[in-house]
Amino acid sequence: MAEYDFDLFVIGAGSGGVRAARMSAAAGMRVAVAEDRYMGGTCVNVGCVPKKLFVYASAYSEAFEDAVAYGWQNQGAEFHWKTLRENNASEISRLNGIYRNLLANAGVTVIDGRANIEDPHSVVVDGKSYSAERILVATGGWPHIPDIPGRELAITSNEVFSMDEFPRRVLVVGGGYIAVEFAGIFAGLGAETHLSYRRDLFLRGFDRDVRKFVRDEMGKKGAQLHFNHQVEAIEQQGDGSLLVRAEDGSTLTVDTVLYATGRVPNTKGLGLEKLGVVLHRDGTISVDDNFRTNVHSIYALGDVTGEPQLTPVALAEAMALVKHLQTGQLTEIDYNNIPTAVFCQPNIGTVGLSEEEARDSGIPVQIFKSEFRPMRHTVSGRDERTLMKLVVDSSSDKVIGVHMVGPDAGEIIQGMAVALKAGATKKTFDQTIGIHPTAAEEFVTMR
Ligand code: FAD
Ligand code: NDP
Repeated sequence: MAEYDFDLFVIGAGSGGVRAARMSAAAGMRVAVAEDRYMGGTCVNVGCVPKKLFVYASAYSEAFEDAVAYGWQNQGAEFHWKTLRENNASEISRLNGIYRNLLANAGVTVIDGRANIEDPHSVVVDGKSYSAERILVATGGWPHIPDIPGRELAITSNEVFSMDEFPRRVLVVGGGYIAVEFAGIFAGLGAETHLSYRRDLFLRGFDRDVRKFVRDEMGKKGAQLHFNHQVEAIEQQGDGSLLVRAEDGSTLTVDTVLYATGRVPNTKGLGLEKLGVVLHRDGTISVDDNFRTNVHSIYALGDVTGEPQLTPVALAEAMALVKHLQTGQLTEIDYNNIPTAVFCQPNIGTVGLSEEEARDSGIPVQIFKSEFRPMRHTVSGRDERTLMKLVVDSSSDKVIGVHMVGPDAGEIIQGMAVALKAGATKKTFDQTIGIHPTAAEEFVTMR
């Protein structure tokens, strides 16, 4: 008889947990996964998927306007929030079912409920104890709202997809991925949109030209950007609106305040402290290259172990862990050149080093930049521009950074990421024949 109920007990059926559970079961392990909220985790339920659907929704307002110059009569289209909300909810519940089936078909035992680690080889869910040779913590993260008066009046990305009413006026607080994406969504859907960021320019960590370009493009699309602006308090007013006070003494009156000020790891109540599992100062779980914590039967991966908090990273970590459990060997993940997109409007797509990072590391850089009006808008007349930028190490001719702000930047940069991984030089780019007429061809014609 087996010593344990399971070979692997996964806590959290999000991007990383589902992938690890499925692949380890496919490799012959006896696997269970516990999930206390929603199948598919953050990405499927309150992250990548609904966000992207809302980005699509928000792009229609401009598409309707632009269509007129292409001969389409303006139909006087109106946005109906409840239709979007309900259609999004039914798509998510379809995906929840798919995830549950994927696990069941792979032979994974799915346990609904909140898991707590009792000892290095047992997990309790709803009072029932399960033993496992190994436990994987893939519990992800949770939005964090700073401790200011009135914080309970604000919502986060968890609630935004199911709001009762679409707000007429909204303030988004933060300057990272979520803030910038949601400012674009709200503006596109027709809300008076404000974004508050505490420093001089949002999207810290991205290439500075990209950040400035996005600032200008978002401004043109009607989002009101408040930089060097720190929210001090939120107060409910008699008419239900929210009065937002900033440290500089200014105020804003809005209907909804969305906080997008980062996420904290979901480690509370898991029993990790009791077992002496080492956490970093920010609460993320410390793991070695094989995703193992200091308690040798306990592993962790995905957002709960820190940055970069991206679904493909959690998936890659899950694949590497399963391979390691199968072979006992180290399957290293290369965290360099991870491409990423911010689905603001227009999108950002980026891979590799920013110009600033390259210069700060002492690399001799050569910069190639192109800025133009996308072809679609030569006829629509819309004042929107595209930015493309290559950062090249002039000592080796290697392309070390590719950045774009423009329609479909995320789609375009995925291919550029392959080129960077393969070590492409600027000469390789120059020798590549373009696809005409596209925006992407600009990457191979910049001289
Ligand atoms: P999660 O997906 O968060 O899954 C963790 C799961 O564990 C959850 O289902 C949770 O309910 C469960 N859980 C927690 N504690 C317990 C417990 N004690 N017992 C049982 N279950 C538990 N990434 C991208 O790559 N592209 C994007 O476009 C993108 N957009 C995003 C938009 C938003 C608004 C947000 C918030 C995130 C976005 N992300 C995006 C990030 C992406 O969602 C995360 O990086 C990814 O979901 C991390 O996967 P994970 O498995 O580590 O955790
Ligand atoms: P980020 O870490 O990207 O950004 C947090 C923002 O909030 C920063 O601008 C930060 O400012 C600001 N901030 C932090 N604390 C405070 C505070 N106390 N007061 C005011 N501002 C504050 O977090 P997000 O919440 O936007 O997203 C979480 C993660 O989810 C992302 O990092 C990303 O990995 C992932 N994600 C990915 C997406 C994608 O791939 N398209 C989309 C959405 C999320 P400062 O710059 O000064 O630190």
